[in-house]
Amino acid sequence: MSASLPLIGAIEAGGTKFVLATGTGPGDLREVERVPTTTPAETLWRCVDYFAAAQARHGRLAALGIATFGPASVDPAAADWGFITTTPKPGWQQTDVAGAIGRALGVPVAFDTDVNGAALGEWLWGAGQGCGSVLYLTVGTGIGGGVVINGRPLHGLLHPEMGHIRIPHDRTADPFSGACPWHGDCLEGLASGTAMTQRWGNSGDDLPPDHPAWDLESQYLAAACANFACTLSPHAILLGGGVMDHPGLIDRVREKTLALLNGYLPEPRISLPGLGSRAGLCGALALGLEMVAR
Ligand code: ZN
Repeated sequence: MSASLPLIGAIEAGGTKFVLATGTGPGDLREVERVPTTTPAETLWRCVDYFAAAQARHGRLAALGIATFGPASVDPAAADWGFITTTPKPGWQQTDVAGAIGRALGVPVAFDTDVNGAALGEWLWGAGQGCGSVLYLTVGTGIGGGVVINGRPLHGLLHPEMGHIRIPHDRTADPFSGACPWHGDCLEGLASGTAMTQRWGNSGDDLPPDHPAWDLESQYLAAACANFACTLSPHAILLGGGVMDHPGLIDRVREKTLALLNGYLPEPRISLPGLGSRAGLCGALALGLEMVAR
């Protein structure tokens, strides 16, 4: 299958599990394996072991793409490139991930955030196809965002941390002080699944459609989308993550975002991602593929 396409290794590196696959695209993800995130030494050793065996079966990998939780050092010119840096996850602070795996396998590694990877995967194969720029926002336990512009993930001093922008917070309407340990009532502090759980005693799974939680949630997410539309001018804003599974939430967010923009800008496409539960793994594969194509 797809013998002419480069063979890519993909790692979706998460705080609870690493998901590994080998393949050439979304329709060719071979031998998907889940490795629990334990200590760095054990987890990374299992990744190397998996890809060494995969190479023995399928041939040499052209590149390995790692889409990781963060914060992470994604600037190839930085001394700590490839490290997970200031994460609250115990044992993983200042951990060399990309360098360690790349050296062990002798394979070039593309290393980026999970959300930049997802944005790239959606741009290549999902709901962002045909768009010049794609913003991917995940709304789950936390909130994170990534951006692809003309086929390249956006980096800066670090990488975007879109979950931590400030949005209007009316403390009369919503007295909840926020769930972010760093900022209190930033976007993640007000609109993540963690915030919903703390405010309503329920992450959203059991809240009925007419519960006030959804109006508030869509209002916060729309404020964020309007800010992103004005600062980055993305062609598409794709909202994924567990909270977005709530039926109709995406429509409310779209409606409120367009109301906030008030006709001032061309309307960006605002939709759910197209790759669903494969977005993370496809994102990692896309990062590897982008490196080979560069
Ligand atoms: Zn924050």
